[in-house]
Amino acid sequence: MGVTNWAGNITFSTAQLHTPESLDELRTLVAGSTQVRVLGSGHSFNTIADVDGPGGTLLSLARFPSSVEVDTAARTVRVGGGVRYAELARLVHGHGLALPNLASLPHISVAGSVATGTHGSGNANHPLSSAMGAVELVTADGSSLVMRRGDAGFDGAVVSLGALGVVTALTLDLEPEFEVSQHVFTDLPLAGLDFEAVSSAAYSVSLFTDWRESRFTQAWFKRRSDGPALDVPGVSSAAAATEHLHPVPGMPAVNCTPQLGAPGPWHERLPHFRAEFTPSSGAELQSEYLLPRSDALAALRELDSVRTALAPVLQICEVRTVAADTQWLSPAQGRDTVAFHFTWVPDTAVVLPVVALVEERLSPFAPRPHWGKVFGVPPTELPARYPHLGDFAALADRLDPAGTFRNAFVRGCLAGFSRPGA
Ligand SMILES: Cc1cc2nc3c(=O)[nH]c(=O)nc-3n(C[C@H](O)[C@H](O)[C@H](O)COP(=O)(O)OP(=O)(O)OC[C@H]3O[C@@H](n4cnc5c(N)ncnc54)[C@H](O)[C@@H]3O)c2cc1C
Repeated sequence: MGVTNWAGNITFSTAQLHTPESLDELRTLVAGSTQVRVLGSGHSFNTIADVDGPGGTLLSLARFPSSVEVDTAARTVRVGGGVRYAELARLVHGHGLALPNLASLPHISVAGSVATGTHGSGNANHPLSSAMGAVELVTADGSSLVMRRGDAGFDGAVVSLGALGVVTALTLDLEPEFEVSQHVFTDLPLAGLDFEAVSSAAYSVSLFTDWRESRFTQAWFKRRSDGPALDVPGVSSAAAATEHLHPVPGMPAVNCTPQLGAPGPWHERLPHFRAEFTPSSGAELQSEYLLPRSDALAALRELDSVRTALAPVLQICEVRTVAADTQWLSPAQGRDTVAFHFTWVPDTAVVLPVVALVEERLSPFAPRPHWGKVFGVPPTELPARYPHLGDFAALADRLDPAGTFRNAFVRGCLAGFSRPGA
């Protein structure tokens, strides 16, 4: 039986998944392979994690020592390359500490998430990769390399598309634990929306629409208990939800983290979905485009103008914000960002034409596609969207001159940058 991603839309090109259990075993495996790709928790929706054919080495760190070492004095945690956010968050919380933000689900591996620029929401919250202070790699010859914040090339080493080596550990910055309460409102009209005011009304804000009408079906505000009181212009208190809700129509609210304003620990409120339950709808494809936050309303108007084409293939669209960062391949690099996410029906053939339509409507805003989701932006366009792609290609050439960690997906993304000797 083949190895597939979480969504089941990708069957990887090899049926053999290697699961090294020690650093020595990993080094020997890598040094003896001509092509290596690492599969994290498999939550990406495209071929980013794949090998080129049955001869490639696809490996998982699921059986690798899953260390989580918290340094309470330094407020950091060193986490093994196969660990998922759910386990990490629980252990960090046990030390009275916290991560600044989380994605919509805690099921994903830390190394795989940051490799694709995964983010949560919040005008002042950076992508998850910004918490990384050091990355430990096993490179193509089986040797170890540690890169730390401030080192030359570090800004290219975290959001790496898996193209630099096997990430065996990451060190993350922590902060003191905090509490969050979730406040959900329904029916927020697009007309008259003050996007800046709404997106800054809480620590983390998510706006959901099915695009059946020109309105958000739900608006989720995650408020830190040590932050300002919730004050959302345009949202009447009459629209406050009176029961727990799931953002995807028809899905059970029990899958979601507690709402109705009940305060709780950061890791049980920042993700939308609870670790023990299926996240999102479970049968889906996803796409996401990230563009300057200042263009949020104009981009919303563009999407609204094609909503009748989007709605039939859409389960839910989520709008979030992300603070600018410095990492070369981060979708928020150099610009405060708004992210337009689409959870599609699980049918590639009907979804791809609508993905092309979204890309066409959003093209005036130079949207950056999420590396881990379905997109059709051609490789020739990517250097204009990700201006440090060439710097990243040079870093990959330096750390992996033989291209052991490249696959068809990565070669496509770096097509504009020739490799010495290639
Ligand atoms: C239901 C659902 C909800 C989601 N919500 C969000 C969200 O809120 N925000 C968001 O931004 N994204 C979201 N995503 C996308 C998801 O975060 C990314 O696809 C992320 O990459 C998943 O991590 P993973 O471990 O499954 O990575 P994988 O898909 O397994 O791998 C992704 C990349 O990481 C590389 N990689 C993995 N581990 C290593 C390692 N140890 N060393 C080297 N390379 C490695 C792989 O080779 C590959 O290139 C969601 C996805 C799903 C399915």
